[in-house]
Amino acid sequence: MSFDYDLFVIGGGSGGVRAARLAAETGARVGLAEEYRMGGTCVIRGCVPKKLMVFASGFSGAMDDARAYGWDVTAGGFDWPRFRAKLEAELSRLEGIYRSNLQKAGVELFDARATLADPHTVRLADGTEKTAKHILVATGGRPFVPEFPGAEHVITSNEIFKLDALPGKILIVGGGYIACEFACILNGLGVEVTQYYRGAQILRGFDEEARGHIAGAMCDNGIDLRLGTNVQRIEKTEAGLWVTSTDGHDAVYDAVLYATGRVPNTEGLGLAELGVPLNGNGAVLVDDYSQTTIPSIYAVGDVTDRINLTPVAIREGAAFVETVFKGNPTKPDHELVPGAVFTQPEFGTVGLSEEAAREQGPIEVYAASFRPMQTGFAGREDRVLMKLVVCAETRRVLGCHIVADGAGEMIQLAGIAIKMGATKEDFDRTVAVHPTMAEELVTMKAPVRTG
Ligand SMILES: Cc1cc2nc3c(=O)[nH]c(=O)nc-3n(C[C@H](O)[C@H](O)[C@H](O)COP(=O)(O)OP(=O)(O)OC[C@H]3O[C@@H](n4cnc5c(N)ncnc54)[C@H](O)[C@@H]3O)c2cc1C
Repeated sequence: MSFDYDLFVIGGGSGGVRAARLAAETGARVGLAEEYRMGGTCVIRGCVPKKLMVFASGFSGAMDDARAYGWDVTAGGFDWPRFRAKLEAELSRLEGIYRSNLQKAGVELFDARATLADPHTVRLADGTEKTAKHILVATGGRPFVPEFPGAEHVITSNEIFKLDALPGKILIVGGGYIACEFACILNGLGVEVTQYYRGAQILRGFDEEARGHIAGAMCDNGIDLRLGTNVQRIEKTEAGLWVTSTDGHDAVYDAVLYATGRVPNTEGLGLAELGVPLNGNGAVLVDDYSQTTIPSIYAVGDVTDRINLTPVAIREGAAFVETVFKGNPTKPDHELVPGAVFTQPEFGTVGLSEEAAREQGPIEVYAASFRPMQTGFAGREDRVLMKLVVCAETRRVLGCHIVADGAGEMIQLAGIAIKMGATKEDFDRTVAVHPTMAEELVTMKAPVRTG
């Protein structure tokens, strides 16, 4: 049977774009449909605009530090419309690069929503049908807002980059990395931030000591973090959004941002009708090679809800192409994936938390918390955390957790050593780079905890 394409990709985000381009480079005929903007969540409303906002918000503290270092500077106000216009121009530039790279590789692009009609047929929004030998579902995810009275008044991370004006006072609901990052960003930009999280501590799933350290720093930086607290209802009043809370603390905000998780984009896609199993959250169930139970249909990235990060989606897309178009069956590697949370201070993490490691057997924990030279000199109280979790038996470093400015950059490099199986003694025999914060990783002599 002949098909219009060897591969049709649904979704032009991190995973879909990489798979489409690599497949086309093997000579395959590739089509790709994107319903919103090329580049997907990461480029248009995720990692990239968020990181640019992190940079923008860092200048308020940097200005104070500069004064402490002898510079005669005063910060004027932050001009959100000016920043937003520059941000939009940058995102359009990046979107253009994604589009042209795909076209240069020979991928045929469709600016349309696509759904599955049968195991080899994709239906575009205008009703046109395209057949393909393989179909790759790379439709990502979207913010999830629970149902409650007044839910229609809230915004999500999708809208935050497009606000006409920055709110004077915002409530952020959620305790995951996106909620915490936006709490820090907006706090740095001068917005009065309250954050509610219904659980006992933010950043669930990460190392507990690091979570506590970050929560403490966020409070010290002026964020009104209320744990064990949730929204009951929101009413729109002339003064703003009136929020009634479970802790009896009612207040009015200019905006309420919900960052309470994300759900895979599978609704109305036609997968369930074809018999492709989804999990309770709507994620596509795939095997180790990203193949669904229908042999011609694969899925990569956030829509599979494995590890929802851009570099992981890219690796999954690349592994799919190796497997299907290069005759080299390849499983994407989900072990020891380093990651960063761009709070202020930043958090870099790889491997097991102390708690998860302890469940596997005896460990040694090496940790140091100290005031770094740069901000200490400026009179700031912030402390950094450097932590290694070591297997007592094999001596391998099972986890590394860093809370410090630049932790994202540091953990990328520590991640290589840990991925290679470095032991505590390998860290110890590496000479320190002085004076840095990271030198602590190779100079911690005695464990602070064992067992
Ligand atoms: C605020 C925020 C911050 C983040 N920060 C980071 C970070 O710092 N580091 C990191 O690694 N990750 C970060 N992420 C996660 C990262 O963005 C995702 O893991 C990544 O984008 C997943 O790529 P993907 O290809 O699976 O999906 P996406 O990038 O979401 O792409 C899916 C695309 O499919 C399109 N689509 C959906 N349905 C259809 C359809 N039926 N037809 C046609 N097109 C369709 C969508 O419009 C979208 O463009 C962040 C996410 C958010 C929301």
